[in-house]
Amino acid sequence: MEKFKIAFIGLGLIGGSIAMRIRKKFPDAEIVALNRSDATLKSALADGIINNGTHEIDDSFRNCDYIFLSAPVDTNISFLEKLKPFLTEKTILTDAGSVKGKIHKAVNDILPDAHFIGGHPMAGSEKSGYANANDHLIENAYYILTPSDNVTDDEVENYKAFVTKLDSIPLVLSPKDHDYVTAAVSHMPHIVAYSLVQTVMETDSPEEYMKMIAAGGFKDITRIASSDATMWEQICLENPENIRILIDEFMQRMRRFDDFIKDANGSELHKSFDEIKNYRNSIRDGRKGALPKIYDLHCDIIDEAGAIATIATILSTQGISMKNIGIIHNRTYEQGALHIEFYDEASKSKASQTLSRHGYTVFPD
Ligand code: NAP
Repeated sequence: MEKFKIAFIGLGLIGGSIAMRIRKKFPDAEIVALNRSDATLKSALADGIINNGTHEIDDSFRNCDYIFLSAPVDTNISFLEKLKPFLTEKTILTDAGSVKGKIHKAVNDILPDAHFIGGHPMAGSEKSGYANANDHLIENAYYILTPSDNVTDDEVENYKAFVTKLDSIPLVLSPKDHDYVTAAVSHMPHIVAYSLVQTVMETDSPEEYMKMIAAGGFKDITRIASSDATMWEQICLENPENIRILIDEFMQRMRRFDDFIKDANGSELHKSFDEIKNYRNSIRDGRKGALPKIYDLHCDIIDEAGAIATIATILSTQGISMKNIGIIHNRTYEQGALHIEFYDEASKSKASQTLSRHGYTVFPD
């Protein structure tokens, strides 16, 4: 078993989850973390995830195989100068940021000799902080790597092998391609979700009928509008050109739909919806992508006293934990009156089999 030495700057949702995964897969690794709050460091020490916690870059950063920059991007950049004396020929410097252009430029300017491989695990959550980190967040998730020019092919291959051993799926892209692709499948969808919710918020009647029936499907499809406002403000300002190109592409399509509806052009609407449906259905499922995945199912129940309690009991006797359970009053987007959300795919699948065995009709997708 390899005995790596690894340091983290920032041990929140992403840094904490990567550190937990490393601890699980490489129990002998020496893990050092720099973090702002003491509480996080104390928890990580108590959990046995890190061996050493600090608030400053100090001698514990010497001789690292990997240094992960996993604080917000500007914070990561503010530490680069101080890292200079601690980087050796064998140290791979990496990050976890959602936008790659800015960090590549900063590393190039401040640490031109660093062996820097940008990294972006395609995994996350609307929640933040070490308290929400877990050891399976990056499992089965694409992990985009953006090597800088200083890095050799061997170093890239070794880092890909390391990421693969964490059970993530490495994908090498240039920083430029990364920022365009993620603008389309992550950054712009957040803006669309924020806009959809804002449309309801600002056009609702005084009785708030829209808000009332938005429960269920509408809330599900706009889930990412609950993401951290500070993080998304930063992402939008770090990747403005790409996001603006894609907002423009999106608006062109909205205007096209508007024209079809204005002209009562049913055949073009139908053709577009059909093509889009086929394309969407061809998107591979089962892996984690750019947006956090939910593990949920819908199930038909008779609306009578104790119906939810019965289901909760059946699932708990099988050791299945639920994240959320509730009756859906607006079923425009899905079948089944009861919506249940789980923490992972295995729990969802076991729940689906268990409930079917008990005679319930389950709608998994
Ligand atoms: P997070 O949960 O808020 O964690 C940030 C961590 O950085 C916290 O532990 C925080 O310490 C620490 N930190 C903040 N300012 C600091 C400072 N001045 N000095 C030292 N430590 C500091 O954020 P995250 O979601 O993990 O995001 C981290 C990076 O991952 C970002 O670059 C983000 O773009 C990227 N990313 C996020 C997601 C996602 O879905 N969230 C997905 C992929 C990539 P405290 O304990 O004091 O708060």
